[in-house]
Parts: sequence; structure tokens; C-alpha cells
Amino acid sequence: MPDPLFPAIHAGSGKEALRFGDRSLTYAGLGAAAGALAAELPAGRVAVWATPTLHTSVAVVAALLAGIPVVPLNPKIGERELAHILADSSPAQILAEPGAELPDGLAGLPRRDIPLEGAGAPPAEPDAETPALIVYTSGTTGPPKGVVLPRRAISTTLDALESAWQWSAEDVLVHGLPLFHVHGLILGILGPLRRGGSVRHLGRFSLEGVTRELSTGATMLFGVPTMYHRIAESVATDEELTAALRRARLLVSGSAALPVHDHQRITAATGQQVIERYGMTETLMNTSVRADGERKPGSVGVPLAGVDLRLVDESGAEIDGRDEVGEIQVRGPNLFTEYLNRPDATVAALDNGWFRTGDMATRDDDGYVRIVGRKATDLIKSGGYKIGAGEIENALLEHPGVAEAAVTGEPDDDLGERIVAWVVPAGYRPDAGEVADHVAKLLAPHKRPRVVRYLDALPRNDMGKIMKRALG
Ligand code: ATP
Ligand code: MG
Repeated sequence: MPDPLFPAIHAGSGKEALRFGDRSLTYAGLGAAAGALAAELPAGRVAVWATPTLHTSVAVVAALLAGIPVVPLNPKIGERELAHILADSSPAQILAEPGAELPDGLAGLPRRDIPLEGAGAPPAEPDAETPALIVYTSGTTGPPKGVVLPRRAISTTLDALESAWQWSAEDVLVHGLPLFHVHGLILGILGPLRRGGSVRHLGRFSLEGVTRELSTGATMLFGVPTMYHRIAESVATDEELTAALRRARLLVSGSAALPVHDHQRITAATGQQVIERYGMTETLMNTSVRADGERKPGSVGVPLAGVDLRLVDESGAEIDGRDEVGEIQVRGPNLFTEYLNRPDATVAALDNGWFRTGDMATRDDDGYVRIVGRKATDLIKSGGYKIGAGEIENALLEHPGVAEAAVTGEPDDDLGERIVAWVVPAGYRPDAGEVADHVAKLLAPHKRPRVVRYLDALPRNDMGKIMKRALG
């Protein structure tokens, strides 16, 4: 039985599939360009210089149609990381937009310019277990690992999101994310293409772009919390943006925790409740809520169709997570195949087929998951308590003098670890005692930061995630 990932590309209609700025491709045009490129791809693997362009999208689709694993590269990648990824994934070719300037580190690879036109027909698609993408993790907690994703994981996750979000061919997505991580690439490009819908990519996220697209027929916005933070800062004063957001069918946030305060400000101004989804490179999407289901700010929702999710304590025993924080483990057809060249890491990541996410969470009576943070960096053991950084960060953000916040633990002779609050002041600089009192009053005395440090900006990666490794 043929089981194409992209039935709409094979059908090849004149409907707009992808638009980046003033350049667009119809389904027929995309099938022809990707088909022509697919026919010429070398055996082995290919790398793509993943600028936010039509070219990147065509290259990835071509490789997926041909069954050639593709490695998307961050165009801002540093020399050392590039060398690591090239040595690890040994691509046979680098696909790039014509005219794009490539770094010296890529000089040893044959270059192929990506066409936007062609006369090819999309090839019959390969088996579901064929490796489709090798995506390097964000490197938030350690050096990036190459996650091998089969076609099966991609189709499974996109179909689960279709049923949760009632995602259809009528949907038009506003997209402002990079194309070298799963959020921007799999959800943002491959998702609409699988559904037969359309994508309008902003190139770079901007409030004007969001307003313009949602005012002219776009129905959904996918973003990361830093984008929703900018939206939350602006809804009070920007009437056009607020009206545009009110018209949207779905606002979705993921890749990091959406601060409750930002969520509430957006809801108050627009009546929209943002949907959170929780996923990762290795498992693709794990949880969200239905488009017609209840959203709970601070929660990432419930397991998606086909995803088994459990919480385990430090001894590995399953817990219900109502009174106790546990590590999230996930099992299902949405999982990756392996870490490339890292059988040790693959074995260590799995517990009898369950993937150890390294994320800590609780679960309420309705089964809604609340992520407390990462086991490695966000769980602070202080004075005999286990304290989640996220809860304190949310409380800090409610202080009018705090624009951005991150919380870490630091060794302490007395407490084991002490709580450190890293604060980017908003307008004026609140003093440390005032900030700490605010947290203790909202939460509990043992959650009071012992140290408050001020920064001009938090260290963030290209997805807006706070790099806690760089603090301290
Ligand atoms: P690395 O694995 O290299 O350290 P990374 O884990 O940041 O990097 P990704 O796979 O891109 O790389 O990110 C997945 C992680 O992002 C999850 O494990 C989780 O910690 C976090 N995350 C994703 N969505 C959410 C969400 N809605 N709320 C809170 N955290 C989230
Ligand atoms: Mg990770």
C-alpha cells in the first residue's frame, strides 16, 4: 500500500502551498521543483543550508520524497558545531539557495543550488521506516546529538495534531520560526503540506507581519514563548494586532514554557487562550489540548493520540504525579529511531522502550500535565525541598519591575542548593529584597530566592530558549 506523506503534492493543484515574502509556490509548482531535485540527489545523506526560504522547503521536501535523509543546518552555526555535525553525519552534498554565502567549513562538500522550478514529477515515496530527517538537538543541556527521525514518526505526530487541533486544508499558517528544528520544519512546513493547507512565512517574526497575515485570511499562528511575550507586551496598546489575534482560529505555543502571566495578558486582551504543546526532537509531539478542549494556563495539556506518557520517581517506579513531581517518559510511534553514531546515548535514553525525556512534571485530576522543568537544570534541591524553577520564574514575571527571569540552583553549605534569581529589569530596577519578598509572598518562604542577579538580557538560543548552562 503506498502511504505518501504528502498526498496534496502528488495531487498537484494550483492552490498556494508556501509563501515566503513575495515568492510563493503552488502544490503543482512545489511538486515539479521538488520532483526535479529529488531525481538528482546523490545516494547517502544530504545537508541543507536551512535559511528561512522557499528553497529550504523545496530541498527538504525533495529529499523526503526521494527517501534521502536530510540534515538541516542552522545558517548561524559556529565553526566548531558545523565541524561536529559534518563529521557526525557525513553528508554527500550541501543544498543551498543560489547565491547564499557558505562558510569555509562547507568548502569540502559538493554544492547543489536548490531550484524553485523544474519539470519533475514527485517520485513514489519510500517505506515508513526510512530515515527522513537527522535533526540536531538544540544543545540546551549538552553538545547537540543527531536525532534520526523516520517518516513514520513525522506522519504519526502530524496526524495526532490534525485530530487534536482539527487542522485542515482550509488552514493558513503564519510562520516565523527557523527551519532547522522540528517545531519550524516539521510542524510549520511539513504539517500544512501534509494537510493540503498553506504556509505564509514571515522570514523573521514581527508583530506587523502577524497582524498583516491574520488580517488577510491566515487562521493559525505557531510561536515560541518569546514571541508570545512580545505579543503580550503589545496587546494593551496595539489595537490592530489585538483585533487580528481575536480573528485567529488557533494560537499555539511550544518549545519552552509559556509564562502564565503572558498567557493571561493575551487572553484578557483578545479572548484567545493560547494552546500549549509539548514535544522534543526525539519524540516529536507528546501533549497538547483539543481545539475545542479546556486550556489550563501553565499546563501543556494531555497526551496526544497514540502517545503513552507516564511519570516515574527517582527509583523508576510509576507515580500518578498528583502530589509528587516525576520524570516524564514517553512511548509510541512518534519516537525517533536512534541518536546517530551514539548507540550508548540511545540505550541510556530508553527504559524498556520508554524514552526518558529528562523533563519533570506533575499531573492533575483531569490528566493535564504541568512541566516543572528539566531534571538537569530546573530542579533545585534546597533545604530538603525539591523546587521547580518554572514556578518561581512565573512568580517573578508577575512583578512589574521584572521583564525576564530565570532561576537556577547554586551549591550552598547550609541548604544543599540555594535559589538564584536572574532578572532582566523592566523600566526600573527593583531591589533584591523586594523581588525575593514578592516570590515568598506568592509561593512559600522556602521558595524565596537567596540571591538576585541583574542582567541586560538572558542568554537564549535561536528558539528563544534560556541557556541555563551559560548562567553563573
Ligand atoms: P538538548 O537536548 O540538546 O539539550 P533541547 O532539549 O532544548 O536541547 P529540543 O528537543 O529542541 O532540544 O527541545 C525539547 C525540550 O524543550 C523538551 O525536552 C522540554 O524541556 C522543552 N519544551 C518543549 N516544549 C515545551 C513546553 N510547552 N513547555 C515547557 N518545556 C517545553
Ligand atoms: Mg533535549
